[in-house]
Amino acid sequence: MGKKVLIVDDAAFMRMMLKDILTKNDFEIVGEAENGKLGVAAYQKYKPDIVTMDITMPEMNGIDAVKAIKALDANAKVVMVSAMGQQPMVIEAIQAGANDFIVKPFQPERVIEAISKVLA
Ligand SMILES: [Mg+2]
Repeated sequence: MGKKVLIVDDAAFMRMMLKDILTKNDFEIVGEAENGKLGVAAYQKYKPDIVTMDITMPEMNGIDAVKAIKALDANAKVVMVSAMGQQPMVIEAIQAGANDFIVKPFQPERVIEAISKVLA
């Protein structure tokens, strides 16, 4: 059975792209959320194996969402999806417990590589 993924991103297009890449590689998308606050709620609801987390989002950004998810589950696995120029925020997210990051625009191979490595 495919590993369960929760996609958190405020851009519907980005969620669609990630969903497409992941489902084609045998991952199961158990949930999608459009901001950090909904992402934390979805994490509790769906208990995914891994989360892809955007950084810039309304309501609650990806860094605060990682902190909240890690507070709920210290073993939570999170891959940040950042834009170019967000290195300081990526570092903060890693310090908060994120496991890896990918940079937009990304290649499908890089997405699969990062997620597979974190799940290994
Ligand atoms: Mg965003």
